[in-house]
Amino acid sequence: MNPKQNLLDLDAAAMAAFCADMGEKPFRARQLLRWIHVNGEKSFEAMSDLAKSFRAKLLDTAQIIEPVAIKDSTASDGTRKWLIDVGQGNAVETVYIPEDDRGTLCVSSQAGCAVNCKFCSTGAQGFSRNLSQGEIIGQLWMAEFLLRQNPANLSRGDRVITNVVMMGMGEPLLNYEPVVGAMRLMLDDNAYGLSRRRVTLSTSGVVPMIERLGRDLPVALAVSLHATNDALRDELVPLNRKYPIKELLAACNDYLQFAPRDFITFEYCMLDGVNDLDTHAYELVKIARIVPCKINLIPFNPFPGSGLARSKRERIQNFDRIL
Ligand code: SF4
Repeated sequence: MNPKQNLLDLDAAAMAAFCADMGEKPFRARQLLRWIHVNGEKSFEAMSDLAKSFRAKLLDTAQIIEPVAIKDSTASDGTRKWLIDVGQGNAVETVYIPEDDRGTLCVSSQAGCAVNCKFCSTGAQGFSRNLSQGEIIGQLWMAEFLLRQNPANLSRGDRVITNVVMMGMGEPLLNYEPVVGAMRLMLDDNAYGLSRRRVTLSTSGVVPMIERLGRDLPVALAVSLHATNDALRDELVPLNRKYPIKELLAACNDYLQFAPRDFITFEYCMLDGVNDLDTHAYELVKIARIVPCKINLIPFNPFPGSGLARSKRERIQNFDRIL
């Protein structure tokens, strides 16, 4: 017997193909998408405008595999974190960050990460596996409909989550197809209907995939830069040995032809005595003259064994002033 199809693994085109295989018209696929992603419904019996015979077929052939949260905690500022079990002792994190004018969900794309950036605790854990499209979009599905249970979360409109950042665990561009499939659903009007400006993918700089994403599905782009010259970036972000800064900046400029925003966000984790000197700030200014950008200075979050420390507050302020 074939395993049941997890419908969270299907974007609009794949859902249409799945329905066509069952002899159903394309509009059935749209109805199904809306039940799942607009209404958060997971019971086929409750999908009242689908023909009974179709619902019976779905019961036999399809399922919705929900994420399993093993931890769900909310901080005093409203930030809510879920730790999601993805099997074989692995878990990924999904984080909801509420602000007055937006609700942002930070989504993971892989269990662990192979890039091994020196300042990242995920990198230190090593790589376990890629998440499926269903496991990626499932994080948004779970968070949106759990958060909707509290009417106070709906003060901004009928959706709680207004922005998604692919910035959780993993390098999204090393899990390309499932990430792009999940982002297609984020943008689909029959699913989450987010604009491309409100979906941001963050990459450590997988140059060929940045180029491909620009052609396939240009969303807002953030780049984990963290260093201003190749010698230092080779150490901090080992992927730089394959795709050095010059190639990365060229890929960013190429991407801007297609991007929904007219700048790239550069993330820069401030590491005491490593990348936070005045000379680095001046090098960063030169980079900002090559690529239209916003620079996000992030104080390092120390973890055991990293051998790194957070830049002092005054150092960050001085760096910021130079920029
Ligand atoms: S690519 Fe992202 S998740 Fe992976 S090690 Fe680097 S910072 Fe961490």
